[in-house]
Amino acid sequence: MQWETVIGLEIHAQLATRSKIFSGAATAFGAAPNTQACAVDLGLPGVLPVLNREAVVMAVRFSAAIGADLERRSVFARKNYFYPDLPKGYQISQFELPIVGRGRVEILLDDGTARTIGVTRAHLEEDAGKSLHEDFHGLTGIDLNRAGTPLLEIVSEPDMRSAREAVAYARKIHQIVRYLGICDGNMQEGSFRADANVSVRPFGAELGTRAELKNINSFRFLERAINFEVERQIDLLESGGTVVQETRLYDPDRDETRSMRSKEEANDYRYFPDPDLLPVELDDEFVAAAIADMPELPDVRRVRFCEEYALGQTDAVQLTANRELADYYEATVRAGGDARLAANWVTGELAGALNREGMEIGQSPVSAMMLGGLLQRISDNTISGKIAKQVFDAMWGGGGSADEIIQSQGLKQITDSGALEEIVNAVVDENRSQVDAYRQADEKKQAKMLGFFVGRVMQASKGKANPKQVNELLRRKLAP
Ligand code: ADP
Ligand code: MG
Repeated sequence: MQWETVIGLEIHAQLATRSKIFSGAATAFGAAPNTQACAVDLGLPGVLPVLNREAVVMAVRFSAAIGADLERRSVFARKNYFYPDLPKGYQISQFELPIVGRGRVEILLDDGTARTIGVTRAHLEEDAGKSLHEDFHGLTGIDLNRAGTPLLEIVSEPDMRSAREAVAYARKIHQIVRYLGICDGNMQEGSFRADANVSVRPFGAELGTRAELKNINSFRFLERAINFEVERQIDLLESGGTVVQETRLYDPDRDETRSMRSKEEANDYRYFPDPDLLPVELDDEFVAAAIADMPELPDVRRVRFCEEYALGQTDAVQLTANRELADYYEATVRAGGDARLAANWVTGELAGALNREGMEIGQSPVSAMMLGGLLQRISDNTISGKIAKQVFDAMWGGGGSADEIIQSQGLKQITDSGALEEIVNAVVDENRSQVDAYRQADEKKQAKMLGFFVGRVMQASKGKANPKQVNELLRRKLAP
């Protein structure tokens, strides 16, 4: 039988507020355990939650970014369950009336086709604490620093049909929240978590029973976890079994998913509106202020890059992958780099160097100003593209600006025809037999043989000869 995969994602984006969603405690990652949890986060008797305005602003921005129906009235609800890292015995979330309603995002697949994925809703909620199972022999530690950290849970429609589509969608959401500056997107630290709901069905049939996959902390693992799960479900169904609805943990070491618990139903949580919090009511003024300084969004920027800089789709996709990189590219162009040349260098030489060093664009020792300066010298023929790579490496190593390096290392291209002619003459004299062979060869062969002479001249000039001039000169000298 031909099986169709169906995937819906629940993404938790930790909002980049300085303090928690209902208290003034700090949200910074990595503090000593239990030093960032106040009485509100601990749920001590008599405390009252106070909503963090900034978290609401961020949700409004997200809503606008995915063209969603922003709900002017939303309600916080208590989701009741018991777990040691949840001291109150309930999580404050939104249930029936979330702040962000239906929206959509467009994903671009590797083959260049676009697909629209529906977002069902996004709601604000607080995170729970963390249980530390590994640090204490036979005991579990509880760190409540994360308790009360604001989350935006973004729930998709079951619109994805393969692990690759799911990854493309997750990457798109990741890109959007990072462009908006509402989430740092760090998957290792858990500030961006994707749970995948996966089912299979015979093509065109009704939705199959799904499993929810958790503990996925990279895009690569997301793809792998889904692929493993799809195989498992198909094998199960084909051997006469049934899929049970459950939560499964992905184990990256063994590359498999394992059953964790049967899936709770919403009514197990006894949701009810939190009596300590008023409904969130957004007026026009608040919404207008929240979206007033929205940055240009990635899709818009990508299209603009194609038009304004005459870039191909692949370059535009790569250059707008994140805001810092797109800013860097545009700053390079402003600093005098030709748009196409700059695209080649940023996606080529620069991306390669960053990759090698495991650096983010913000850490690049070569600033956009410096790269723009280097590209200017290629455009005005001061140096060749090849020498430019040498200059780039020197800049990367802290050797100063392109002009300083060209000057101090004497890398200026030799364009003086007298000087070039001398070198060419010397090469011709030193290679008499090749010259004779060249003169007897037909045109096609000659074209090939010319490379040998060009190579010699470039070598003799330490790469500084202007290649175009060298070609012309050689052709003249070698003519019978
Ligand atoms: P819950 O409240 O149990 O998390 P939801 O109905 O909110 O369940 O769905 C959660 C996610 O599961 C959504 O992203 C939705 O698109 C996805 N989903 C629902 N049914 C299926 C299915 N049969 N197969 C795959 N994904 C599904
Ligand atoms: Mg859910």
